Amino acid sequence: MTALTKPVRVRYAPSPTGDFHVGGARTALFNYLFARHHGGNFILRIEDTDQKRYNPEAVNWLLNGLRYLGLDWDEGPEVGGEYGPYVQTERLSIYQHYCQQLLDNDLAYRCFATPEELDEMRRERKPKGLPTYDRRYRDYDPAKALERADSGESHVIRIKLPLEGNITVHDAIRGDITFQNEILEDVIIVKSDGIPTYHMANVIDDHLMEISHILRGDEWVSSMPLHIHLYNAFGWEPPTMAHLPVILNPTGKGKMSKRESRAPDGQILPVFVRTFEELGYLSDAMVNYMALVGWSYDDKTEIMDREELIERFSLDRVNASPASWNYEKLNYFNGVYMRALTPEALAKQIMPYVKEAGINADYDTLVKIAPFIQERLNVLSDAPQWVDFFFVDELPAYDLNMLVPKKMSLEDVPSILKTAHDILAQTEFNHDAIDAALRVGVKTLGIKAGQMFQPIRIAVCGKMVAPPLFNTLEILGKETTLKRLEQTLSRLEQN
Ligand code: GLU
Repeated sequence: MTALTKPVRVRYAPSPTGDFHVGGARTALFNYLFARHHGGNFILRIEDTDQKRYNPEAVNWLLNGLRYLGLDWDEGPEVGGEYGPYVQTERLSIYQHYCQQLLDNDLAYRCFATPEELDEMRRERKPKGLPTYDRRYRDYDPAKALERADSGESHVIRIKLPLEGNITVHDAIRGDITFQNEILEDVIIVKSDGIPTYHMANVIDDHLMEISHILRGDEWVSSMPLHIHLYNAFGWEPPTMAHLPVILNPTGKGKMSKRESRAPDGQILPVFVRTFEELGYLSDAMVNYMALVGWSYDDKTEIMDREELIERFSLDRVNASPASWNYEKLNYFNGVYMRALTPEALAKQIMPYVKEAGINADYDTLVKIAPFIQERLNVLSDAPQWVDFFFVDELPAYDLNMLVPKKMSLEDVPSILKTAHDILAQTEFNHDAIDAALRVGVKTLGIKAGQMFQPIRIAVCGKMVAPPLFNTLEILGKETTLKRLEQTLSRLEQN
């Protein structure tokens, strides 16, 4: 890569129109990694000039999502900065000034074409592959145009682009791309309500905020010539531009969905950052996985923590070709990060999910349980179902037939539970002692170990799938264990 001559200042510039998609999060992440790698600044700018599509919840989704991913911004909403404001609708007077400059220099013009006229142009020109607008006000007398505008006639302002020749733009990932000026449209830069369009506001802000590199989704490649013409019109030097590869769905045959759906097995296929968070993907796993969607360090290294990603990230290794989102791979990453947590860290991570499920858990007990469920959790939201029975006074009623071990019947259960109860009442409550004691019980009863353990597990956990039995009993403690065995015995008696 060419040496950096200016301080690195990059921005993530979302439009708050909807939920925060992982496609956007990946763009934010690459900007963040690039900024941190170069010791530069990562700026967050809210591009809300499209007020029709503005969604007031979107900014919250976005800020919360960035916080969950740990992508802290150096300048932007909430944190401020020297180049603010960072919300475009708070910058309207700035844009007005620059728009006037273009009008004064005959680089932009007012256009009074009505919606009907535009429809007609579209009908006629679209089949010929021409841009909609036929530039009919391009050479209109500016003085007359100003008069009409002053009299309150509805109009927009359009950029005056060259009519012929080519423009070659440079993308740091894709190289040079040449566009014919002829096919570019004199697009609207200020709408009839006086608010600039994305293109105009984006170029002005990137310049004024001294953005050094633009890293954004590749749907903006086709806007590059227009943006470069705008920079030229203002006499500004454009930032380096790099368009990140599109994210495909797991089949690799189409863009990643904009909406969440369900896999054939009913599992939710998240696409929004807050759903990944709700399901309980670890922030570090998400960041590590997303970094590899379109970038690689080498051909083999996959697991990299934040520091390593920051140290290793470079635009040179961002791939120009599309990358597929792979849920299995993300799950694998999540598992790796989950297993690397200490019991304390895991307990901390699962606590909000457990609380959310209405379980009255305490941290110390969760720390004790953590090592025994760690291997079994795919995502943090799996935790409540593994831990709920530790924190209830009474187990919810379960089907008594679940107590019946293989090749036995319900009548065999009371004596097993009775034996277990009496033995455990005499046992010290730690894993090894419980193990040894119950094995004596197995011998006394002359049954298989599994036949003894199953009814005990159901009696104390109320479910088939639970953490390892002896650890579970140890954590539950003698009193609770004996009480649950007694309760089961009396349910059996009343049955
Ligand atoms: N507001 C644009 C978007 O949400 C930003 C594109 C850019 O980064 O220039 O896609």
